[in-house]
Amino acid sequence: MPARNPTIFDLVSQPQELGAARTFELALYLPPLRLAGRDYVFVSDVVPARLTATFAGGGFAVKLEFSCRLEGACWRCLEPADLDLDVKAEDYFETKLPPVEEIGEEEEASLWFMEDGSLNLSEWARSAIAELLPPQILCRQACKGLCPQCGANLNFEECGCKPPLDMRWGKLRKWKAAD
Ligand SMILES: [Zn+2]
Ligand SMILES: [Zn+2]
Repeated sequence: MPARNPTIFDLVSQPQELGAARTFELALYLPPLRLAGRDYVFVSDVVPARLTATFAGGGFAVKLEFSCRLEGACWRCLEPADLDLDVKAEDYFETKLPPVEEIGEEEEASLWFMEDGSLNLSEWARSAIAELLPPQILCRQACKGLCPQCGANLNFEECGCKPPLDMRWGKLRKWKAAD
């Protein structure tokens, strides 16, 4: 499958009238994510997005809103899992950029702002999504995962494996018996 191009928005060419807000409806490409060593894709990977740019003297306040669905493997049982996200990202982009070497980590917004003054919306969206992700992506909240001994999916079957006897618990049991 050919790689798609990131969605680019030409920000600095927007009229610089103080307080004027302009809204754009865009088709936003969402690149796949790699999480915990697995690939997750957006279905669809092009979503309708709304971008609002307001000139605030020296730069633009930009808001990007879209909804998306992420699909991939459940972290516990590896069955298909999906996640619906409503994303709202806001940032301020100065029209005059400092030289690249002066961009520090605290100026994260500059990372999506390219040298020609356009915004890489796909990268910005990816970063906004990363902040919204739960600690684990699961097929269901109470996913029981796989049996560590036989690999059975415990959501669908009880395999009957006995949990391995842990030495520490054995000691605790003896201590309790002596009490
Ligand atoms: Zn699961
Ligand atoms: Zn088992």
